[in-house]
Amino acid sequence: MKKALILVLISILTLASCQETKKEITSTKMYAVELHSFAVPDDAVTTHLNLDIDVDFDTQVISGTASYDITNNGASQIILDSKFLDIKDVTANGVKTTFKLGKMNEKLGQSLTIDIKESTTKIAITYNTTAQTEALQWLNAQQTADKTHPFLFTQGQAILTRTWIPIQDSPQIRITYDAIVKVPKELMAVMSAENPKEKNANGVYNFKMEQPIPAYLIALAIGDIEYKGISNRTGVYAEKSMIEKVHTEFSDMEKMVLAAENLYGAYDWEQFDVIVLPPSFPFGGMENPRLTFATPTVIAGDKSLTSLVAHELAHSWSGNLVTNATWNDFWLNEGFTVYFEIRIMEALYGKERANMLALIGRQDLEDELEALKETPNDTKLKLDLKGRNPDDGMNSIAYDKGYLFLRTLEEKVGRTEMDAFLKSYFKKNAFSTTNTEDFITYLNTNLLEKNNITFNTDEWIYQPGVPENAAIIESDAFSNVEKTLQNFINTNKIDVDVTAKWTPQEWVHFVRNFPEDISVDQMQKLDNTFSLTESTNSYIAMVWYEQSILNNYHGNNVDTNISEFLNTVGRRWYVTTLFNAFAKAERKQEALEIYKTARANYHSVTANTVDEMLGL
Ligand SMILES: [Zn+2]
Repeated sequence: MKKALILVLISILTLASCQETKKEITSTKMYAVELHSFAVPDDAVTTHLNLDIDVDFDTQVISGTASYDITNNGASQIILDSKFLDIKDVTANGVKTTFKLGKMNEKLGQSLTIDIKESTTKIAITYNTTAQTEALQWLNAQQTADKTHPFLFTQGQAILTRTWIPIQDSPQIRITYDAIVKVPKELMAVMSAENPKEKNANGVYNFKMEQPIPAYLIALAIGDIEYKGISNRTGVYAEKSMIEKVHTEFSDMEKMVLAAENLYGAYDWEQFDVIVLPPSFPFGGMENPRLTFATPTVIAGDKSLTSLVAHELAHSWSGNLVTNATWNDFWLNEGFTVYFEIRIMEALYGKERANMLALIGRQDLEDELEALKETPNDTKLKLDLKGRNPDDGMNSIAYDKGYLFLRTLEEKVGRTEMDAFLKSYFKKNAFSTTNTEDFITYLNTNLLEKNNITFNTDEWIYQPGVPENAAIIESDAFSNVEKTLQNFINTNKIDVDVTAKWTPQEWVHFVRNFPEDISVDQMQKLDNTFSLTESTNSYIAMVWYEQSILNNYHGNNVDTNISEFLNTVGRRWYVTTLFNAFAKAERKQEALEIYKTARANYHSVTANTVDEMLGL
């Protein structure tokens, strides 16, 4: 931890005299108060993990030992997080020691308190995972692209790593790691680390991650996968039947890294690879360092959905290099990443494409504000997630309101000043943690006061909704789409010469903006003309299915396609959009019928959200 949290430090030092608990412990508080971890890193903190595990696909259990180097500031205990783990045995400096698992908390799991001595530098925990694990998704062969071998992947963010490794699971605690992972011989393992490019004969894989990262970025995927390089530092992993398609789709990856470096400084993680997972992966992408995990739903065949790669790449700076101290500061990870993503897309494909992306986000934000109108506090950038699941904060506010704040700021200060500021911000905080208040201080000192600019930063960050000075984002392409739509609604006619030139983003904008009173006949006409029910672009298909549900359109087998889509794709954003449409259209019974079979294909983060949505 390079950077002290100044504000916390001052306030805690003032309190220190009345808190003389453990006499030997240094009074300097380096860390913010933990909200979603039992760890007390100021007392004793892990610095390096050595993971040695066996992965058994037959029993669907990971078992082994997590050994840590620790820094002990004189404490007699070190506290880790554990959830649904079976802890067998714990040692301190190689000698068996006592430990205690705390009371189970539904959201946080259990504290794992290990007795140590002042001289303890190493602890080791022997454990195995259980069927209740929330991070792991074990897939049978049928759930993969090739349908010949099983697959396993992990999803750590926000607080799920503790369900497959006993760990100090806090974004402000960074560790390096080594791992030995034993898997069935026909499979290959990859991690958020230095990775193999080929299968080996014995199924034992060694990993090394030398840059310190928070626990939520430790990731593992195992399957019958192959590697194909794009440049000497970028490439893709996928199953055999997908590898060529994925390689073609993501062939601009090196260009993206160069564009990103050009904006905000050198890429600090050496390698940037993407693994395309089976369709149940719950997110579009997850920015696991050196190896982004991605959904196959972005493989559209025309590179139209690759802004996802730009997004995950941008996280190599915002999120992975400079990490939110607590999940209340999640907007620092995501708002900056969306801003950076759109800048990369602009550098590669021009302003019009960038503005289309920004406008789609703007509409997402309006939808989110509407959805959260009963709980306006959840529309602030700085959240209060104490006692809640940090997953509650992972919505469009952090991403799209965060983006809009930075875009508005850019328009106020000018792009040159903005870029110089962001570059210095990333450099100053590299491989460490920051929080909202530190960011504001840095912003005031290094951008606003320096240039004598006043800006309503506090309103943007601490007030609900969107301030009045929000940047106005315009796209000529989208304005034309709106005209075409209006014209179709009025006349029932549509010019196919115009639509022939549309990008998938324009189609998405067209479909999403159907007026509420669009008729079934009109939808049928559009479907017959443009085969929207059969769209092979997952994004267009998803918004078309949403409209079909909302407007009770049942033509051209759309119901079968929707059911198939929901039974295959586990991407939470897509799945929840469609189940939400069923709920809005008062067709919940149909949703429940589909969910009966679909749920088994979802990762826990998707299943938990849908359970809640459908009141299960
Ligand atoms: Zn992100």
